[in-house]
Amino acid sequence: MDENSRVTQEKSPENEIEELKIIIEPQSLEILLKTYKVLQKYKLCQECLGRQFSYLATGTDNSTRAQAILLTLTMEAHAALKKESLEYHTTLFGDRPLEILELIAIQSHFQPAFHVLLNYYSNTNQNEKKEYISPLFDSHNCDLCLNLLMPTNIKRICEEIEQETSNYDFENFLVGTYLNPKITNKEEDIRAQYGLISGESFKANLNRLVGKKLQQIFHKPTQYKQPDLQIMIDLRESMDPTYELHPKSLFLESKYKKFVRNLPQTHWHCHDCRGRGIDRRTNEICQTCHGSGDMYPSSVEDLIASVVLPYTRGKSAVLHGAGREDIDARCLGAGRPFVLEIKAPQKRILPLNKIMDEINQKFSKSIRVGPFSVVNKQKVINYKSDSEITEKSYHALVYLAQPISESFFAPRMELLRSQLMNHLVKQRTPLRVVHRRADRTRSKEIFEIQGKWIDARHIFFKIRAQGGTYIKELISSDNGRTVPSIAKIFGIPMLCVELDIVNVREIKNS
Ligand SMILES: [Zn+2]
Ligand SMILES: [Zn+2]
Repeated sequence: MDENSRVTQEKSPENEIEELKIIIEPQSLEILLKTYKVLQKYKLCQECLGRQFSYLATGTDNSTRAQAILLTLTMEAHAALKKESLEYHTTLFGDRPLEILELIAIQSHFQPAFHVLLNYYSNTNQNEKKEYISPLFDSHNCDLCLNLLMPTNIKRICEEIEQETSNYDFENFLVGTYLNPKITNKEEDIRAQYGLISGESFKANLNRLVGKKLQQIFHKPTQYKQPDLQIMIDLRESMDPTYELHPKSLFLESKYKKFVRNLPQTHWHCHDCRGRGIDRRTNEICQTCHGSGDMYPSSVEDLIASVVLPYTRGKSAVLHGAGREDIDARCLGAGRPFVLEIKAPQKRILPLNKIMDEINQKFSKSIRVGPFSVVNKQKVINYKSDSEITEKSYHALVYLAQPISESFFAPRMELLRSQLMNHLVKQRTPLRVVHRRADRTRSKEIFEIQGKWIDARHIFFKIRAQGGTYIKELISSDNGRTVPSIAKIFGIPMLCVELDIVNVREIKNS
């Protein structure tokens, strides 16, 4: 075969393209075609256009996706404009290249298309066309986001958030959005009409744009799981956003001792008026709490929170104790571990020792707290499940309904020790709490019991028992709901008149 015949047999690239045009699958131009069709009806900014294809191509962003599509369309139309070939017009969606360029420039505010048009109108002396298209280009307003996603507006949102969060301590954050359902509905409607199936949500788009920019401003990372600060952009009322800040609760662990009786562990609302201070039926001041709304004027929780809250500028505080003593019981010894949960704190970096000293000075007569440390929420969850595996030591002063002598006491005490120590007692929910807790029977172990005869009417007990044991009922029998009981073994009705918790500790190897 000679050189000449080989050349004539090879196809030129141009011929190959002509052949491809005939056999080309319509789907291959799907992205261009869909974009063109959508823009015929809707004005979309480049972020909102690119979002419709956000699951296609990685390592890029929505506006780059949109620019790639729009630039391809612009170049195709520009090429056609130069060729002025009728055949080419029809391959490009059957429209004239000038119409295509105008559509792209006006409907999606695309500079390169706009400039091609301006040059073309200048070269062909069509100034009236120039004056017609310029204001349309300038006044572009996205049908989906009303230009909220334009870089200048994202920047403004970030500046506003920076302002709003300036008083907050946080190591990481997360951006979220409350959206007006109208926006979602409109976008879903467009997607359904044009078969756009590769797009992320408006929310995800906005959250990412703002989140990325805030990372640079704050020099802090976003965190999806339990962020220190959740920043909500609120677009429910209008596209002029307002903001909500949701700081994660702060958990401070310590121990408390309680030196006084009649101080509940946590704030206790009046159960008659449910804390309102006003009787619902008569609309007069509640007789039970005399209008205060509280059963007790204060609590361990109230005292500690009154010092901690101002430091954290939190909304409220909740004390989670490792179990709780009765209101009239003191809590001595090493103290009871607790976690104070501060809700919605602005400050997370705190002078913990100063706070401890302040509490101990201010309330030295009623409570004392140990050093604070910052812990996570899991600690509170552990407390709730651990109360079963803690053991507690109590001091109880008991009043006897009948007088007894010391010689009567000694053998009864021996009997008591043999029947209770390292034995289980069965306790039905006490009558005094059964109105607010499920009535069921629990088994609790008594580890140690010692007694001392004080006088004919009083005995002093030291009791070490499993966490959650109802000690007053262990003593009185609670009308036979606790079996066995000290009253039953002694054969004498008796009542616990003073109760102190002297130690709380975890049971090892259980
Ligand atoms: Zn938009
Ligand atoms: Zn009341």
